[in-house]
Amino acid sequence: MAESEEDRHLKLAGEFDCLPEPLPTLRHSTSHVMAQAVKQLFPEVRVAIGPAIEDGFYYDFAKATPFTPEDLEKIEARMREIVQKDLRFTREDWPREQAIRWFEDHGEPFKVEILRGLDVPTVSVYKQGDFLDLCRGPHVASTGSIKAFKLLSSSGAYWRGDEKNPMLQRIYGTAWLTQEELDKHLWRLDEAKKRDHRKLGREQDLFDFYDVAPGAPFWLPGGMVLVRELERFARESLDARDYQEIATPLLVNKKLWVQSGHWDHYQDNMFKLDVEGEVFSLKPMNCPESAYVYKRTLRSYRDLPIRYSEMGRCHRNERSGTLSGLVRVRQFTQDDAHIYCRPEQLQAEIADLLALVREWYGTFGLPPSYRLATRPPDKLGTEQQWDSAEDALHQALRTNELAYDLDKGGGAFYGPKIDIDVEDALGRQWQLATIQVDLTMLPERMQCEYIDTDGQPKRPVVIHRVIFGSYERFVAILTEHFAGAFPTWLAPVQARVLPISEKHAEYGRQVHARLRQARIRAELDDRNEKLGYRIRDAQVRKVPYTLVVGEREAQNGTASVRARGGADLGALPLERVLEDLRAEIGSRSVTLNVGQTT
Ligand SMILES: [Zn+2]
Ligand SMILES: [Zn+2]
Repeated sequence: MAESEEDRHLKLAGEFDCLPEPLPTLRHSTSHVMAQAVKQLFPEVRVAIGPAIEDGFYYDFAKATPFTPEDLEKIEARMREIVQKDLRFTREDWPREQAIRWFEDHGEPFKVEILRGLDVPTVSVYKQGDFLDLCRGPHVASTGSIKAFKLLSSSGAYWRGDEKNPMLQRIYGTAWLTQEELDKHLWRLDEAKKRDHRKLGREQDLFDFYDVAPGAPFWLPGGMVLVRELERFARESLDARDYQEIATPLLVNKKLWVQSGHWDHYQDNMFKLDVEGEVFSLKPMNCPESAYVYKRTLRSYRDLPIRYSEMGRCHRNERSGTLSGLVRVRQFTQDDAHIYCRPEQLQAEIADLLALVREWYGTFGLPPSYRLATRPPDKLGTEQQWDSAEDALHQALRTNELAYDLDKGGGAFYGPKIDIDVEDALGRQWQLATIQVDLTMLPERMQCEYIDTDGQPKRPVVIHRVIFGSYERFVAILTEHFAGAFPTWLAPVQARVLPISEKHAEYGRQVHARLRQARIRAELDDRNEKLGYRIRDAQVRKVPYTLVVGEREAQNGTASVRARGGADLGALPLERVLEDLRAEIGSRSVTLNVGQTT
């Protein structure tokens, strides 16, 4: 699973650090200016920490009441005055004891707490005008360098991210090198809000959430169409590649997790149950159980590779405060697979997987980027095993002619991996696929073997991989990527038939029946409403095609077709519409093609 934004915030908050790169430096400097403005306007407020984060910054303040939108406006106006004054950021190194005294004298308990936790003789402080902060730096030269920023929101946040600590007030802001970049970012934020999958999910009857099941969606009929189409897509693709689908139990005895090692390292994230006096848990991942299937019979080198796919429903005990829509859930279904192969087969398997990943994401118009993570300092397995595994990944990427980034030392302790991000229509990056090589963990812990050419038992290499990640998260990403206007093959309703008036209801019913016979998800809208209203309604619901039928259409066996977005395709023979629709759906096109070819 990808590191969430929240994780990154907490990590950054923990280090109260900023990176020596222009944007984070600028953003961190803007957070100091914000803290200065807040102290000037609300002298009773205590300051906590204010790191740069992705796309911006925040600062946490101890304040009895939340900041109001009017407060944020005032703070932003005061920040602009501070920027106007072009105050220099100056650094001083102080003995730690002096810094503790200074912050005690100025009534800043959070800074004192941070200082007491630091095991260093001297610390650095940064000053601009009347504001001084404990900070490692670096900063821009002066406040005049801060040109394009905006305060976005405020919300409660616990000190050091721990709910046992006091609740602070966090103000989020964004800062960019140019006004143009800032404007573009604000547009993206606005667009993201409109496309929010939680909002669209409710509006389009895809899925919903109720407080009786935090972190788990109720799939509504429309959303279930999406899931079923994605499952069908995945199954067709994997069947053609000699995957074998398995399904393993959700509720599993603790014994399994002790053997797999999850009990020692992962049990806090597992839901545990008492069943007839024994401890069971809901599986948080599918890996060890796939090994049971592998081990059912004695395997020979001739049997490998074995590719087990699983639509694995997993549960992880995420804290309720971190749950968010379909993106952070407690229950999810992975498009998981475990490939058991001989070490010399690794490169070919990875190369095939990369081709598969490219094909899948291409279907949704999501361009991927690749990151190869290599051996960490603490690792299992021999240097030679690692050399050949890393080499296999490099070669597989090259065979596919893919550019990739290197994440040195970023691999798991049991093998290197390739992480794959996609970029959505708003230019946001989402980590989806992981191709994880497992040299030792599952094979050793679960004692998987095959008989090699020399008659000796050997350990196979296991590849753990997901491509969608989880169906839940992938549906969230698709919903926002397409802004709810899904390609026809995914759209819950693919066509709507609109008889012009009651007189044409019979032909409307016939057209509707023909579409249904052709297995096209069609609705008949013969409500007693004006045609213009019903056309607009179909557009609002983002139905790909609207078929308007009246006197002329009934006589000629045609339908007047409008594509989503408003394009009027004119009257087309009904058979032609069916044929084009079937072709568009069958090819899983991302574009609307009915009536486009002659
Ligand atoms: Zn700082
Ligand atoms: Zn796995």
